[in-house]
Amino acid sequence: MTDKPPLTLLIAAPRGFCAGVDRAIRIVELALERYGAPVYVRHEIVHNKFVVEELKAQGAVFVRELDEVPDGVPVVFSAHGVPKIVPARAEERGLNYLDATCPLVSKVHRQAERLIEQGRHILFIGHEGHPEVVGTFGQVPEGRMTLIETAEDAEAIEPADPTQLAFLTQTTLSVDDTAEIVAILRRRFPLIQVPRSEDICYATSNRQAAVKAIAGRCDAMLVIGASNSSNSLRLVEVAERAGARAMLVARGHDVDFRWLGGVRTLGITAGASAPEVLVREVVERLAERFEVSEEPVEGVEENMVFKLPRALVA
Ligand code: SF4
Repeated sequence: MTDKPPLTLLIAAPRGFCAGVDRAIRIVELALERYGAPVYVRHEIVHNKFVVEELKAQGAVFVRELDEVPDGVPVVFSAHGVPKIVPARAEERGLNYLDATCPLVSKVHRQAERLIEQGRHILFIGHEGHPEVVGTFGQVPEGRMTLIETAEDAEAIEPADPTQLAFLTQTTLSVDDTAEIVAILRRRFPLIQVPRSEDICYATSNRQAAVKAIAGRCDAMLVIGASNSSNSLRLVEVAERAGARAMLVARGHDVDFRWLGGVRTLGITAGASAPEVLVREVVERLAERFEVSEEPVEGVEENMVFKLPRALVA
């Protein structure tokens, strides 16, 4: 017999690493194997301190800007994508650079270029300052793209030529908030060009749907992820809107047992940049105070795999 209170865990599926994050980490690891340490990485390769620290231990050096990279060492660009000027500068300096931009982000970059070639002005739905947004704005000439963060922005924007508009979105947004913003833009600008396919990526959509599927049965939900991880923050919002109290935790020692008072069924999920080892760490931490039992949760299967750069696999 145990005197620990029972706690049922519903662990969302799918959760955690997406194909883009997996590929970006693999690129740094393969670069370390091929070229030896140090390998420089511009920005956090993915938004997760645990991942960054593990790569640092293997010899990766994280910097904010290219100027901090010495000549003659390889440099990797993060999964979020970079403005065009960054690879251009790397080439000017003759640096060996590897681009770990997620192919789904690169797809948005190419769309942005095509729209500008067609003479359109782009309304970009996203969050100011996020590296993906900085990278996408850096694909087009200044002044040709306007950031739309909220439904209010969509209502307020007064473009110079409403007949020559298009919109694109960040890949890691809230599916529901974005649908609201898009509906406003389409109502206000009936001629706006709509992307051929969804820009919010499969991993973001699937993780949000997985949270919605279990939130109604949970008293509370823990989202494992970093505070600068857009898709993790969106998972907290999705859980709260679905009626579950939700908290973001970076890893096991962040679990606040007072916050869990009275909780009998706890949902757990992880953002696309949080490794499964952190999910198990959180479960172990919970098991220190609770008699935990995991209830199986079914979810869509993900088979997405992205090719690695030829330079690393040839
Ligand atoms: Fe790519 Fe989506 Fe993962 Fe971002 S969250 S790295 S866009 S698969």
